[in-house]
Formats: sequence, C-alpha cells, structure tokens
Amino acid sequence: MTSTANSIANNIAALTASIRGFERRYGRAEGSVGLLAVSKRHGAESIRAAYAAGVRDFGESYLQEGEGKIGALGELDICWHFVGPLQSNKTRGVAEQFDWVHSVDREKTARRLSEQRPSRLAPLNVCVQVRMSDEAGKSGVAPDALPALCDTIAALPGLKLRGLMAIPAVSEQMAEQRSVFQTLAGHFTRLQARFPDMDTLSMGMSNDYEAAIAEGATLIRVGTAIFGPRLASSPADVGG
Ligand SMILES: *Cc1c(COP(=O)(O)O)cnc(C)c1O
Repeated sequence: MTSTANSIANNIAALTASIRGFERRYGRAEGSVGLLAVSKRHGAESIRAAYAAGVRDFGESYLQEGEGKIGALGELDICWHFVGPLQSNKTRGVAEQFDWVHSVDREKTARRLSEQRPSRLAPLNVCVQVRMSDEAGKSGVAPDALPALCDTIAALPGLKLRGLMAIPAVSEQMAEQRSVFQTLAGHFTRLQARFPDMDTLSMGMSNDYEAAIAEGATLIRVGTAIFGPRLASSPADVGG
C-alpha cells in the first residue's frame, strides 16, 4: 500500500467511526447515515484506495474530470454521483454516465436529463438542490419554488426523485450549522408525505457533518476529510 492509500484507508476508518458515534449521540439508527466520498480534484488511484477501504459511492463536480475517472475505473462496482453545478451543456454527459445527480435546481435541466437518460439504464436518481441563503447567484431552487419543481421531476420518466441537497454558507458555529440543516430537513419531511420515494437528505461536508447528522442527514458528502487537500486543477492521473 502506498502512503497515500494508507492515509486514505486510515481517514475512512476514522470517519466511519465518527459517523457511527454521531448516530448514537443524536439518536439516529445505526447505519442510517451513508457516506458519499467526493473525489473531485483527486486521481483515480485515490478512488481505488477508498474503494479498497470499502467506499462504493463517489461524487464528482466537473463533468470532464468525472468522465475520465468513470472510464478508468469501469471494472469497479461504483455508484457515481454528480454533485457539481449543472449547466445545460453538461446534462447529456451526466444523464449517460452517472447514477445520481444532486444539483438539479430548475425544470429545464430536469427535462433535459430525463430526455437524455438512455432507456437501457434505470431512471437517474435526483436530489433537488435547495438554496438556503438569499445571496444572489447561489445555486439551488428557492424554497417556495421547491414543491413545483418536485412535481415536475416526479412526473418525468427518466428521473427518480430521491431527495434534497444543500450547500449552506460556511459557518464554524455548530448552532448556526444546525439551524440551516434543520430548515432543510423540514422541507424534506413535508415533501416526503407527497413523494414517498424520497429517502435521501444529502447534507453535511467535512466541516459540518456532525451538525448534518444531528439534523437528519441520510447521506453526507465528504472530500477533504477522506482525501486531504484538493489539487488546484484537474489531477494529471485522472485517466490512470
Ligand atoms: C467539494 C464538495 C464536497 C466535499 O467538500 P469537503 O469540504 O472537501 O468535504 C461536498 N459537496 C459538494 C457539492 C462539493 O462540491
């Protein structure tokens, strides 16, 4: 094992223990919080190391970079999640190559993803990204437009509405982190009554996953705490 692979394996063991500990502390069922390893800006070898340590769900934010790794790692039984910004010119690649997308925030991209999803594949699993602060230009649907967008997605044959996702503004305060996640969890619970297939609350990253678990996250998206600091640009070894 290389030293990088070794530290990734150690990080995953520590993170898994930490997740199980927070499940107990906050009264969550054991194993109810899943781990999505966000591997953007890390190479295929890092993904192999995490896979060897038991991780099966990986998240990518940039289509081209993700496609390179999906191609290079085709023999592994990986569930691929697209978590990055979703421009119209990216929908085809996402629809054809990923299993999940967490960043749908408008009808137009939802319709394109559904049309472009190959019929030989199961419907694409979708989380709707919700905007949790009013800053202009932030991604995510405004909460008051959320139910209508969910109605649209639930009716599209190429998509399966699975849940909600958010990327709150960075805060070091646990109480502040929890309050935002609690609001998102409230939207999730209300929508679940209408959309019984909704089972995924995608929230929490390296710096705030404890707060997310406390407020009901079912899937945390962790990069840095598994792989270490990200490279500034696409890794040279994405294809290998
Ligand atoms: C990069 C990224 C993450 C992981 O962030 P870390 O702070 O490195 O854990 C999670 N979610 C999304 C959408 C991201 O882009």
